[in-house]
Amino acid sequence: MSTYNIAVLPGDGIGPEVTKEAVKVLKALERLDSSISFTFTEFPWNSEYYLQHQQMMPEDGLEQLQSFDSILFGAIGDARVPDQISIWQLIMPIRKQFQQFVNFRPVKRLKGIESPLKNDKPIDFVIIRENGEGEYSNIGGSMFAGEDREMAVQNTIMTRKGVTQIAEFAYQYARENNYTKVTNATKSNAIIHTMTFWDRIVEEVAAKYSDIDYERYYIDAIAAYFVQRPEDFQVVLASNLFGDILSDLGSAIVGGLGFAPSGNINPTREYPSMFEAVHGSAPDIAGKNIANPIAQIWSAALMLEHFGRRDLYEEILAAIEAVLEEKQVQTPDMGGNATTEEMGDAIIRKLG
Ligand code: NAD
Ligand code: MN
Repeated sequence: MSTYNIAVLPGDGIGPEVTKEAVKVLKALERLDSSISFTFTEFPWNSEYYLQHQQMMPEDGLEQLQSFDSILFGAIGDARVPDQISIWQLIMPIRKQFQQFVNFRPVKRLKGIESPLKNDKPIDFVIIRENGEGEYSNIGGSMFAGEDREMAVQNTIMTRKGVTQIAEFAYQYARENNYTKVTNATKSNAIIHTMTFWDRIVEEVAAKYSDIDYERYYIDAIAAYFVQRPEDFQVVLASNLFGDILSDLGSAIVGGLGFAPSGNINPTREYPSMFEAVHGSAPDIAGKNIANPIAQIWSAALMLEHFGRRDLYEEILAAIEAVLEEKQVQTPDMGGNATTEEMGDAIIRKLG
């Protein structure tokens, strides 16, 4: 039997509510399948912790997480703490320190889900977002606060190593999963230094994979194509900012943020990877037990796939789809009135 040690960071808002359901599903799976077990260690590092300690996690927080097999992350964000603090003191250090340079974000329309698009073609692609550099840097500055000449500069960092490794990951993933095409999301017509560099490195990698087609579109055009012909996409390779934006759009065409899972992956497995729904802490619906936990349960399933248990990933996804197809248990974002917990329970009943 394999035992996996999971660090659980529930975070803020709906983070703890949806994470509780994901853990519940993993525990149910453990009861049904004697080949796997888990230990869960919870870390209370959220905005409340920040208000008490003036930091999002202890000095040795990353060291504490390092020995876990994986991290299950809720979401962070609270009106009492600037978003820059919760993101840059918790999520970014974890992503960077543990070299989780891949943000893996499936966009898949599940059975039983109606897309807002008037189109019943299957939507099933994956956004591979660069997760360690790019537009999300803390390099830059501002001057002359309050004066007419006030200004701000924000630097984008792209390195040969960083772009090469995300492009390689996208192509390897495409090849291993029988995809035939990689789409590069760019904006090299307007962002002439970093994005032309990005294109050049991506195309160096693309040239090595003659079995996989390459296409390149500007990010604004891709946004329209996601709506007009989402069935054409297979693997979409994007920078940190573009991948972030495309993933919320991707979620919208498959039913909303309740259906968008993600993994922050360290492909070398030298450090733990981190799994979290694409959505944030949703303060507008927090504390009401009405958040849709599917994105977080699906993220936990991605974690199992990362552990090499594709079978369990598929089992969880089949259970989710079985619930969706019955249309009996639906959370308010789906037009129903089921609670977060009822959705978790319904999925567990379909396992095994
Ligand atoms: P959000 O994703 O939290 O919410 C956007 C909208 O989607 C809201 O109307 C919300 O109610 C709805 N929604 C999100 N998840 C849902 C779910 N599971 N079920 C039903 N409805 C859901 O984005 P936001 O409002 O822009 O940000 C809120 C906070 O979350 C901010 O503090 C932001 O910085 C933070 N945030 C954190 C992360 C993260 O932890 N990785 C990601 C994005 C945003
Ligand atoms: Mn986002």
